[in-house]
Amino acid sequence: MINYIKESPLNILIQPTDNCNLECLYCYKGNKGNNKMSDDLMLKVLTESIAYNSKRKNSTLFIWHGGEPSIMPLSFYYKAFRFTENINSEYRISHTFQTNGYLISEELLDLFSQFKVSISISLDGPANYHDKIRFTKNKKGTHKVILNNIEKAKRKDIEIGILMSITNNNVQYIEQIFRYCYDNNFSFGINPISSDLFSKHEDLEVHPQKYLESCIKVFDLWFFQKKNPIRANPGFGVTQLILSQNRISDCFLSENCQYTFISIDPKGNIYPCNRFDNNEGFKFGNILNTDLEDILISPTRIKLLERCGNIIPECQNCEIRKYCNGGCMHHAICHNENINSPDHLCIVYKALIKHALSRINSVLITN
Ligand code: SF4
Ligand code: SF4
Repeated sequence: MINYIKESPLNILIQPTDNCNLECLYCYKGNKGNNKMSDDLMLKVLTESIAYNSKRKNSTLFIWHGGEPSIMPLSFYYKAFRFTENINSEYRISHTFQTNGYLISEELLDLFSQFKVSISISLDGPANYHDKIRFTKNKKGTHKVILNNIEKAKRKDIEIGILMSITNNNVQYIEQIFRYCYDNNFSFGINPISSDLFSKHEDLEVHPQKYLESCIKVFDLWFFQKKNPIRANPGFGVTQLILSQNRISDCFLSENCQYTFISIDPKGNIYPCNRFDNNEGFKFGNILNTDLEDILISPTRIKLLERCGNIIPECQNCEIRKYCNGGCMHHAICHNENINSPDHLCIVYKALIKHALSRINSVLITN
């Protein structure tokens, strides 16, 4: 029997709505709905999540995601942040907000500033590229408005991260976006566009070789910063993974992402991660009729928790298995229709870990 209740903190991704104001070309959400989480459900989610983590002496991170979370009314977030602030927990409770950055108002930014909520905004390149991929329902580009909103957030001293989705066509802009983040003291991360459970994004899906090029680029930009370094991933994350001997990792390079991650949709359905939303076969349960503690021991979750490098035949003799463990299970199911198969980005992880090890060793030898 596997030890499915690990001591690691369970990060809670909340999707207060499945609606979105944009029509990005590579969206993995399938048909967007118009569901909104009720205040009562949100308070139940916060209460049970904090209780679950506190019982295990762990902190709780809430990741507000979507759809587009800024569609929800201000009062919803005021209630949420005020509620967690008033909980007298000995363990840290924090919030981060993943947004397309188009609708964030001054009032919402004031709330983030008041409750120390960090934000992560999607930016895929300069306007001439970004606007072809990330646009409104009327096909209007979003770059200008987003940059303007980032400036507003910066003036309010909000912690900002930029997330760049990588396709085959924007690798050349990585350095430009990194420099923008560096100059503004924002963190930076990249994310590979991949086919999903609803659609094949064959034209946009990044080829593993191109993605490897992107990862090495970001790693080195991060590694060779001279002063006032920013956090950039996969550089920071992979180094942390290696130096912590696998204790701290990003989801896709963890022993099993399910030890540390769940996603809750606007109706209270719980999935392994937002990538599996609306997929009945991957639903763990619904928090409106079952306690979170019981949902987390559902047979569907236990089955996913069994996935690791030991049981994936292709991974068994891999020299970096202790760092990778098969990669992302969503990638595995979308590309191979088999959860217990390796991520299609396997060659990226192998080369990236080797690259990171050699960079880290070069510093250790020099010093
Ligand atoms: S399924 Fe993939 S994207 Fe989702 S949490 Fe796991 S590793 Fe991360
Ligand atoms: S790098 Fe590839 S073979 Fe090695 S553990 Fe990861 S997915 Fe498996």
